[in-house]
Amino acid sequence: MGHIRFDHRAVVAAAKAERGTWVLAGVYPTSMSGKAAVLRIALARRMPSYEPAGTFEAYHAPHEDGGTAVWTRYVAGLPAVEPRPSSKTYRVCDRGTGRGYEGVRIVTVTVAPECPRCGGPRGEARPHRFSEDGAWYIVDKWSNGCGHTDSYDAVLAEYRKLVAQLEEAEQRDAARAVKAGPAQAGEYTAAVLLLNTAAAETRGLLARHGAQYLDMRGETEAARRIQEELKRRSGAMSARQAATFLVELAAARQACDRCENGRVNYQAEDGEFVSLRCPTCRRDVVPNA
Ligand SMILES: [Zn+2]
Ligand SMILES: [Zn+2]
Repeated sequence: MGHIRFDHRAVVAAAKAERGTWVLAGVYPTSMSGKAAVLRIALARRMPSYEPAGTFEAYHAPHEDGGTAVWTRYVAGLPAVEPRPSSKTYRVCDRGTGRGYEGVRIVTVTVAPECPRCGGPRGEARPHRFSEDGAWYIVDKWSNGCGHTDSYDAVLAEYRKLVAQLEEAEQRDAARAVKAGPAQAGEYTAAVLLLNTAAAETRGLLARHGAQYLDMRGETEAARRIQEELKRRSGAMSARQAATFLVELAAARQACDRCENGRVNYQAEDGEFVSLRCPTCRRDVVPNA
């Protein structure tokens, strides 16, 4: 494909008319040319319409015709515009894949922030309440500025593909860790090896199941720390991530100089002696009698 001329003056005029709103600058034949255009827009290099440098932001995303879409927005002035999200989260209806009626299940999906057809930003979620078979449900509805509609089925498929890719990558990661030999994880060394071995065997193994497994194998303290961390992350953690978490916790413990054996002891203003569990070490500590 030869050189493509885009009407950047018109793009800039449209973007300036609606500061903060993304405008399609062009669809480039390759991802390399798209990426180069993103850089040139931000720096206003060989693109005089976008001067002065720094007044426009740009990003690139796949376009359904196989090219790379470049979107830009005018950001000069105040107040600062919202940063572009790295993903979008929506609650959608899952009606199963069978032919018959299977009822409805609400699934929270995290997907790309762009429309898969044109690369334009996906819309903001608006809660929508509905009833079915005598039960009430809340899902999200959104409309994309580009005018393309995301169906719940398409978004679910996109999400499941992302999850499968992530699970595959984590499985490979865990296998690599097992091959590399036991990690330096202090008292968790055995637990980390168990977790990595299990995560390498079972694709998509969750931290919750990893913790149960550790508990059964006598690694009860490690299992409790994972359960604690799971609560903190509101349940979203894989067994592979749990193994990484234990390695980090062991390192933090080793470096901790704030406590004595997992306890922070001090005298409060009223003269009372207080002994708290160290938030860095997170050891189980027996309360003082
Ligand atoms: Zn679109
Ligand atoms: Zn400590």
